[in-house]
Amino acid sequence: MDPKELFSTNLIDGKIVASHIERQCSPLPSVIVIGAGISGLAAARSLYDASFEVTILESRDRLGGRINTDYSFGCPVDMGASWLHGVCNENPLAPLIRGLGLTLYRTSGDDSILYDHDLESCMLFNTDGHQVPQQIVMDVGETFKRILEETGKVRDEDPDDMSVQQAISVVLNSHPELKQQGLSHEVLQWYICRMEAWFAADADMISLKTWDQEHVLSGGHGLMVEGYDPVIKALAKNLDIRLNHRVTKISNGFNKIMVTLENGTNFVADAVIVTVPVGILKANLIEFIPKLPDWKVAAIADLGVGNENKIALRFDKVFWPNVELLGIVAPTSYSCGYFLNLHKATGHPILVYMAAGRFAYDLEKLSNESAANFVMQQLKKMFPDASDPVQYLVSRWGTDPNSLGCYTYDLVGKPEDVYDRLRMPVGNLFFGGEAVCMDDHQGSVHGAYSAGMMAAENCQRYLLEKLGHVQNNLPLVSVVRHEMLETTNIPLQISRM
Ligand SMILES: Cc1cc2nc3c(=O)[nH]c(=O)nc-3n(C[C@H](O)[C@H](O)[C@H](O)COP(=O)(O)OP(=O)(O)OC[C@H]3O[C@@H](n4cnc5c(N)ncnc54)[C@H](O)[C@@H]3O)c2cc1C
Repeated sequence: MDPKELFSTNLIDGKIVASHIERQCSPLPSVIVIGAGISGLAAARSLYDASFEVTILESRDRLGGRINTDYSFGCPVDMGASWLHGVCNENPLAPLIRGLGLTLYRTSGDDSILYDHDLESCMLFNTDGHQVPQQIVMDVGETFKRILEETGKVRDEDPDDMSVQQAISVVLNSHPELKQQGLSHEVLQWYICRMEAWFAADADMISLKTWDQEHVLSGGHGLMVEGYDPVIKALAKNLDIRLNHRVTKISNGFNKIMVTLENGTNFVADAVIVTVPVGILKANLIEFIPKLPDWKVAAIADLGVGNENKIALRFDKVFWPNVELLGIVAPTSYSCGYFLNLHKATGHPILVYMAAGRFAYDLEKLSNESAANFVMQQLKKMFPDASDPVQYLVSRWGTDPNSLGCYTYDLVGKPEDVYDRLRMPVGNLFFGGEAVCMDDHQGSVHGAYSAGMMAAENCQRYLLEKLGHVQNNLPLVSVVRHEMLETTNIPLQISRM
């Protein structure tokens, strides 16, 4: 029997008492990490490398969480994260990616109006199947930039936060010359659709105060050509990971923490690092005993969780033009859409349709077949002779009980300290995960990775002080991380500059 599993434990007067099976007394501090996404794996990896006793409890039957590289097409297709945002050596993931020799396909440089795409490799169509002249796309792009600049003035004049959509309306009312008509209006809606995809939320939900305040790393945005999976596998190597272990309760005793699974099995450790998505915490799928303090509960409530879904289609041959992005313009951002052409980056005949915000939730109401049919209707508007896909994949991040959304975003009126409160530990309970990262990298893989490392560092410091291991020769997490960085001087492999 696993010494860490306690089948008969009770929480009495705030102390965890093992009545039948005693936990083996380990000289090393023990930590349970909840969630085997990149954040949990990063936390566990660094604690393991620093000689802590670490166990990861993961509810799914797979690793990676919101990184999900699917191989059923015979090649890697990322149904969750697929870009490295910030193709530069400062990216905390750069040493790992370099070390693994993974290739990045850069889809945009810095400061593109389309975030992770460049306008040059993008082709737009209207719903009648006519291509939008590139000059109109460029001109409306310039207008969109002007509108966004003007929203900055609205922000400066109004102390109260409002949504980006509301601010755009204010700007268009005071600058009628920026209003677009007909096809140009539809192209403007498409730009808004792209913005909504970046935040995974509709424009009427995005905070005007903070939408442009995030610190995006330099170097543009690179698709992981081999998928993100090799990164996950490398981090997970040799770790004690228990799949299909859904945590439902965390009982914080005086010195120990007990973690209870849905089947009643208990695990006990000196500390716990929670890396489950904020959507899971919002839905109270894990009970905390004692209850989390009010400031923490409020922080969880004050954050938005967006949704984005992908529908990947594999064809027997390529019938579309050799551009990275194929977009459909329409009268509202909700009805606009776009396909990522994976063929350009990977050589495989695959298109990935992406939907964000309310539209992403609406797509989840359809069966996989209906969702694929809907997407094919969109594609046939652009290419009436499009052949049917040989295979398709549909993600459901919004209703998946292991994610309940895709990543966090700032709600209108978000309190300034919300992320500080979210990452703040509660005794020996630490918090990692995409939402708690420092430097405004929420919603990203590298942000989640850093958040895991930081949670591990804080956890380690706390335990060594508390358990009197300060004299112990355990290497500090930060030292281990530094050594990892030093070992890889290979440049990032970029297939498109
Ligand atoms: C569609 C989509 C596209 C994205 N695109 C990009 C991109 O291109 N680039 C980028 O940088 N980022 C992207 N992201 C965001 C990125 O994927 C996340 O920020 C990051 O992967 C989050 O990692 P994490 O470890 O914090 O959380 P997760 O990966 O969600 O890990 C948390 C883990 O906890 C597990 N869990 C949940 N509940 C329980 C429970 N009760 N008990 C035990 N385990 C539990 C989950 O199964 C999961 O494995 C995208 C996300 C999505 C969904």
